[in-house]
Amino acid sequence: LKTLRLILGDQLNHKHSWYNGEQDHITYLFMEMRQETDYVKHHIQKIVAFFSAMRNFAEYLQERDHQVIYLKIGDSENEQTLPDNLKKLISDHNFEKFEYQLPDEYRLDEQLKDLCKELDIESEAYDTEHFYTSRTDLEKFYEGKKQLTMEYFYRDMRKKHNILMVNKSNPEGGKWNFDKSNRKKWKGEAEIPHEKGFRKDVSSLLEEIEKAGIESMGSIQANNFNWPTSREDSLKVLNYFCKNLLVHFGDFQDAMHTEQEYLFHSRLSFCMNSKMLSPKEVIESVLDHYYDNKNEIDISQVEGFVRQILGWREYMRGIYWKEMPGYRRSNKLRNQNELPGFYWDADTKMNCLHHSIKNSLENAYAHHIQRLMITGNYALLTQTHPDEVDAWYLGIYIDAIEWVEITNTRGMSQFADGGIVATKPYVSSGSYINKMSNYCSNCHYDVKKKTEENACPFNSLYWNFLDSKREEFADNQRMNMMMSLLDKKNPDEMDKIRKRAAQIIKEPSKF
Ligand code: FAD
Ligand code: SF4
Repeated sequence: LKTLRLILGDQLNHKHSWYNGEQDHITYLFMEMRQETDYVKHHIQKIVAFFSAMRNFAEYLQERDHQVIYLKIGDSENEQTLPDNLKKLISDHNFEKFEYQLPDEYRLDEQLKDLCKELDIESEAYDTEHFYTSRTDLEKFYEGKKQLTMEYFYRDMRKKHNILMVNKSNPEGGKWNFDKSNRKKWKGEAEIPHEKGFRKDVSSLLEEIEKAGIESMGSIQANNFNWPTSREDSLKVLNYFCKNLLVHFGDFQDAMHTEQEYLFHSRLSFCMNSKMLSPKEVIESVLDHYYDNKNEIDISQVEGFVRQILGWREYMRGIYWKEMPGYRRSNKLRNQNELPGFYWDADTKMNCLHHSIKNSLENAYAHHIQRLMITGNYALLTQTHPDEVDAWYLGIYIDAIEWVEITNTRGMSQFADGGIVATKPYVSSGSYINKMSNYCSNCHYDVKKKTEENACPFNSLYWNFLDSKREEFADNQRMNMMMSLLDKKNPDEMDKIRKRAAQIIKEPSKF
């Protein structure tokens, strides 16, 4: 049967079994569409990265004699939505069968299922052959259990895939978790080797995007684009990570620094989320490098990294498919405030927020602790509506695809799911930020002060948050200690805390 196979922008898996076997009757379809550029306001580097990676993969297939239809964003025959383009192409080219890989996003999954019902030709869905787990594995794993603690799922994955195990049953290094040794502040002593980068010229693609009138956020240097957009590039990033950064990954996983945007983080999320690299090959490369250099690299560095991919990444995917579509509307803490305007321009005197947001706007990137303990922490402490927080995170990061963005944002960071992903909210006062970064030493505010004019805003916001959410946390045992500390505060101090927090929430632009 003459077959049309759809490749979505995040399905750039070169190793998929689709590309083996008889190909004469098959045409592959790529589409750059307004439906995808407009469902949220994306960072300009994210749009450029996805379109570039799609174009590179289409070219790769063409060079290997596969038949490809590629609809660019400005093509006159581009109908700009997935159903309209597909219906038109199927009828224009007389395709007799339509095939697609299961999307990772609920929205696209529904759209494709609906479309297939409408089509009068046969259709078939395939696995993406990317993840360790299927959509429903996690749900089955936790069947009958009340708490979906990530740790148990992760240990099971380690055993199942025999990763960092001794005799298939005991964790290598004698422990499952080295988190405690992974909390160092970076003070410049462990050198971060300079990366050459890609320095690509993306000016003509940028012109096409601008001409199409797509709204975006953030900045870009058109002649110095630094994200990997091909499999070759992605392998370079992976190699660079193994050779230069793995050795300190765990140690400085939670560190933040004004002069270092990436520290020892891998920047592999875009390569993996677009599927140019599979999580399996990333973990295998890291393990190979570790076993070849065991005298130099400690198990804690490697375990910390494996946990993120084999644990958190797969876990978030499972939670997404277990909880959607309701997850998208969850707001257990009933937060209603608007996201402060400075999230869009980094114009704030709070140094930690200024740097984390500036980094995000300039690079479409922030590392995990900046996302969780700076921007996420502040949004939660100021009781921002999770819809607003989600829209920002979904737009700004190069790696933001809903399945992994919403579970991290609504779940881990905003506690809007009431404790499915995190057992207690990730909130802190200024002291945690001071412990893990050098932000406070150059800040307009004093991290040690609580309610004075120049006091760190995180300090009053933190206690005010706990005070406002007493009811919600009443049954949460993990909050007991903080709640009893809150109860010990004297009424005068609490009054000052509430007043200052109210002022910060009301007029964020003044801070
Ligand atoms: P590294 O620190 O080098 O980690 C290696 C890899 O582990 C990452 O590439 C990623 O694939 C995986 N990983 C690490 N932490 C997580 C996690 N919590 N969940 C899933 N995978 C993880 N990650 C995304 O890929 N897309 C998102 O849209 C996204 N949104 C986030 C929003 C918030 C509020 C928070 C707190 C985290 C979010 N994360 C998201 C998770 C994490 O912050 C990023 O994966 C990471 O910062 C990407 O940078 P890196 O590749 O340098 O990661
Ligand atoms: Fe952030 Fe407060 Fe430190 Fe300033 S003093 S950098 S606002 S934590």
